[in-house]
Amino acid sequence: MILPIVNYGHPVLRQKGARVEAVTDEIRRLVADMLETMRAAHGVGLAAQQVARALQLTVVDVRGAEDRPSTMEIDGKGVIPERHMPLVLINPEVAPYGEAVAGGEGCLSFPEIYGEIVRPEGVTVRALNELGQPIEFKSGGLLARAVLHEYDHLQGILFIDRMSRETKESIREEIEALHAATKAQLKRSEPAGKAMPSGAQ
Ligand code: ZN
Repeated sequence: MILPIVNYGHPVLRQKGARVEAVTDEIRRLVADMLETMRAAHGVGLAAQQVARALQLTVVDVRGAEDRPSTMEIDGKGVIPERHMPLVLINPEVAPYGEAVAGGEGCLSFPEIYGEIVRPEGVTVRALNELGQPIEFKSGGLLARAVLHEYDHLQGILFIDRMSRETKESIREEIEALHAATKAQLKRSEPAGKAMPSGAQ
C-alpha cells in the first residue's frame, strides 16, 4: 500500500523515532508499504517519520541513481551495492568516517527543493533487517549520503539543518512557502503528501 508522505511543517518530522523493540508482522507490513511508497515516489530513501510514524526504521535503495555511484563493503570485502538493495535498517547505528564532501540532495518531504550538503564521505552501519537479523556494512558515495540523510530523519533532523547559511538563504522562500502550505493543510485536516520527483530521499 502506498502511504501518504508528509511534508515539511508536519510535526512528526521533528520527532525522534522510538526504538523498534520487536520486528513484528506489523513492522514488516510497514516496511513493505514504505518500500512501495519509496519506489512510487522514485526516492532513494524513506524514513518512518516521512510516513508519519516516529520509529527507528528506514529503507534505502540506490539502484535508480545510476549517475551517482555508491560503494559498499561487507566483512572487509567490496560488494556490488545494487545486489544488496533495497536495504531495510531497523534501529540503525552509524559511524561516519573520512573527509567531508559536498553533494546535492533532495528530500521527499521537500518536493522540488534541492541543496548542497556537506557530509562525511563514508559511514559504517549496524542495524537489524526486516527479518530481525543484524547486518553491518561500510558505505561510500551516494549510499553513504543516503544512509546519513535517513539516519538524520530518525533523529528528527532535516537536510535543511545541514545546509550552509548561504544555501538555505537561497531557497528560504520555497522552504517557508512549503511550511505554510503544510500547516494550512493540517489545519484543514486533509492528508499531506504528493508525488515527488526522482532522486529525492
Ligand atoms: Zn529526506
